[in-house]
Amino acid sequence: MLEKITVAGVSVDTRHWIGGKRVASGDTFTDTSPIDGSVIGEVARGGPAEAEAAIAAAREAFPGWAATSRAERARILHAIADGVEKRIEELAIVETTDNGALLRSHRRGVMPRVAHNFRFFADWLLTLGHEDFETRGHTNQVSWDPAGPCVLITPWNAPLMLATWKVAPALAAGDTVVLKPAEWSPLTASLLVDIAAEAGLPAGVLNVVQGYGSEIGDALTSHPDVRRISFTGSVPTAKRIAASAATNLTPLSLELGGKSPLLVFADADLDLAVDLAVEQYDNAGQVCLAGTRLLVEETIVEEFTRRFVAKAGELRQGDPRDEATDIGPNIHPRQLEKIDGFVRRAVEGGARAVIGGRRLDGQYYAPTLLTDVAQDSEIVQEEVFGPVLTLQTFADEDEAVRLANDTRFGLAATLATGDPERAERVTARLVAGTVWVNCFFVRDLQAPFGGSRQSGVGREGGTWSFDFYCDLKNTVTAP
Ligand code: NAD
Repeated sequence: MLEKITVAGVSVDTRHWIGGKRVASGDTFTDTSPIDGSVIGEVARGGPAEAEAAIAAAREAFPGWAATSRAERARILHAIADGVEKRIEELAIVETTDNGALLRSHRRGVMPRVAHNFRFFADWLLTLGHEDFETRGHTNQVSWDPAGPCVLITPWNAPLMLATWKVAPALAAGDTVVLKPAEWSPLTASLLVDIAAEAGLPAGVLNVVQGYGSEIGDALTSHPDVRRISFTGSVPTAKRIAASAATNLTPLSLELGGKSPLLVFADADLDLAVDLAVEQYDNAGQVCLAGTRLLVEETIVEEFTRRFVAKAGELRQGDPRDEATDIGPNIHPRQLEKIDGFVRRAVEGGARAVIGGRRLDGQYYAPTLLTDVAQDSEIVQEEVFGPVLTLQTFADEDEAVRLANDTRFGLAATLATGDPERAERVTARLVAGTVWVNCFFVRDLQAPFGGSRQSGVGREGGTWSFDFYCDLKNTVTAP
């Protein structure tokens, strides 16, 4: 019977976690490792019954958690962060085994950030004030009330990181949670609930249900007792979730895909620009924010391309558990098929692969740079979510901005320029939730994060998270 499996020496319970108890399902699905395609183990495969049970548990736990003082909620969140910090090695190796991302970045970057996510929102909670003001002698008092049970649905490319960007502010706000991790990377969410329980989080406050989105998703997102839905994932799934949430007009936060530009002007520090461009292969290209469209000023494109090819040639691709590896595998054979299909169709349409353009042994895809791509082609307009970049040139600032904005997405943009005034002018014209100037991937949790156009709805981070996870109430009192 399904219970615990051992993953790289770490014991993981792959049943659901509902109302403070492990709960099995009649059915399971098989979790495999992208590193070598090996079977990791069986995971509970939930459906509408598990969704119903988890939402009921979250509903029952809500009044108690909402009434818990802010100081006590913050204390428990810090205790969860302590627990994460104690188990960084275990979380890192389980996540790497499950989704194939680099062990070195899980160890030194991602898992410490997971702990920080809890600490940050615990501390931010304590800064939320009552904004009082007067109207003709009456006082207005604005309060941040907990909203209720939240459904949080997350993808596989940075599983625990993305889940805790939602779980931490929701719990801090006094909400209760049903988390549905992605079926391709279900494991670390299960370790998180062990840590949360040890930290003293009451039963039912954080629930985890496992399973395929298509089987359990609608029951979670159309439920009338759910007060918030926060989703990170793809645009097609988001449309389905939005339609389902419309049943009860449940408020939604959507963090979706992108096709972000990386603009390189002739006045840029070229070494920096090349480093930024090569960085877009991080996580084997499975990063929503990746600047996958390189837009380079035509006067420097030859030199840029020469240096880019040399730099990309230094990347070491292989087992993500090896400290020396820079690029690991892609998540799933289906994803690999998708990436390869995009590249094959682009090449058939006239694109030229300057580097890469092919599958490697196992679940690996060679870092790829495609030139001679048309602006309206699929490869320029659609998110590939693999190590595939396109290269286009522009003649001047106007053309750079026009190409950058000619997309249905608006998640991020990166600029390399040595001219601060140009940076200001161009930034003002770009449609993007985040613009990085001469840097990439720097994220402060105080800042608003999210996408414009089809890259998302709403912003999370700092006060924006509490704005979403709380019911704001204004109380007007007569003199
Ligand atoms: P996906 O949309 O296929 O799945 C995401 C989650 O939704 C999974 O947990 C899945 O089980 C669930 N799901 C699927 N169908 C559902 C349904 N009908 N109802 C409810 N839930 C359902 O996305 P993915 O392939 O896991 O992730 C990759 C996508 O995520 C890319 O588009 C990427 O850009 C995006 N992403 C965005 C951000 C961001 O912050 N903007 C961050 C990371 C990833």
